[in-house]
Amino acid sequence: MSEETKVDAVMTVGEEPKSYKLPEPVLPKLELPEEPKAGIPEDGIHMACDGTVEMPNGENNAHIKPPPEGKLRILIGVCILSYSHEFVQSFLKFWQQVCTIERGKMQIGYHFVYRRPSHIGEIEIVKVAKFNKCTHILFMDDDIFDITVEDLHKLIDAKKDIISGHMYASKFPFASCAFRRYDTKKKVIDMPSDNSMYRLYEVPCQCPTCGCSLTHWDFKFCPACGAPLDLLVQPVDLIPLPFALVRVDLFDKLKKPWFHCSENYPTDSWLADRCIEAGVQEYCHMGVRLNHNGINDITRPHELNKGLELNKASGKGLVHLTQEDMEKHQYFLHSKMQEAELKCKPAIKLIETLEPQPIGVSNDSQKNDSK
Ligand SMILES: [Zn+2]
Repeated sequence: MSEETKVDAVMTVGEEPKSYKLPEPVLPKLELPEEPKAGIPEDGIHMACDGTVEMPNGENNAHIKPPPEGKLRILIGVCILSYSHEFVQSFLKFWQQVCTIERGKMQIGYHFVYRRPSHIGEIEIVKVAKFNKCTHILFMDDDIFDITVEDLHKLIDAKKDIISGHMYASKFPFASCAFRRYDTKKKVIDMPSDNSMYRLYEVPCQCPTCGCSLTHWDFKFCPACGAPLDLLVQPVDLIPLPFALVRVDLFDKLKKPWFHCSENYPTDSWLADRCIEAGVQEYCHMGVRLNHNGINDITRPHELNKGLELNKASGKGLVHLTQEDMEKHQYFLHSKMQEAELKCKPAIKLIETLEPQPIGVSNDSQKNDSK
């Protein structure tokens, strides 16, 4: 009848010697031990340093208490496209710092969006932040490494609606990703497909009083004219969001959709135009130096050299210019940029005043910038 008896029957018909019979197997028991009864804490209705985040579920969020007066509640939002070991390590280190150093000082949680187009992921992050009554979102990219709690504090202390740390592009020629427009009548989303020479320029590190180029953003005084400097927080027309702190109530001022992209422009260009439209200034914190997939202040000059040599060897991407033409080209670009800089800081005189300014004369460029 049963499977077992049939097999036995066959065995006896064939008259197999008894010694060939396999021993009865002793199988391990598969019962699992009882699970621990920890579960979600009873008061898990607010975001705390344990990272608990509630997902918008169509219901209202009245049960989520807003953070105490004056306290920050930050949602770290990451759109994950490719998960790298380096990112996980870097994030866990950052998260550990936040949880141990910041406990009690601020409420913080995180939300990862996996493998969605970035504009859809970014909109979802804003929705999650609003549902959880967060005050800020810390947008982070999945290829930014070595961030620290100090970096976060620098962004918080700048007290801007939208401010990002500084990164270089991860591809040759590793541009500095803090841009201004040559022509403020043009839209940022039209720039990538614009073929003219004057589109966006990298924010130059220079003294706003005398126009002297500087090597560091944290100079306290201009070595040429002696004017006091405060260059770390720079107004920009376009900033990506690799490690950017954004106030959640900013999105109440912006038209929807807050993020959008097409094959002609990326989401950060779209957001930049939305901000310009709403009269909101974007900022870049030059003191927050990011490691963008291995490109940072230390590696960039070497990678740039390597890229140049590779291009030279392959013969691609090389434009043959005489020294004279090159100088002309650079001169035009430079003067055009100074022109644009003058327009964006109408209160500051560039170049014309080369006389040294007395030390201590306050420089109100920053006040004008923050309008
Ligand atoms: Zn100067």
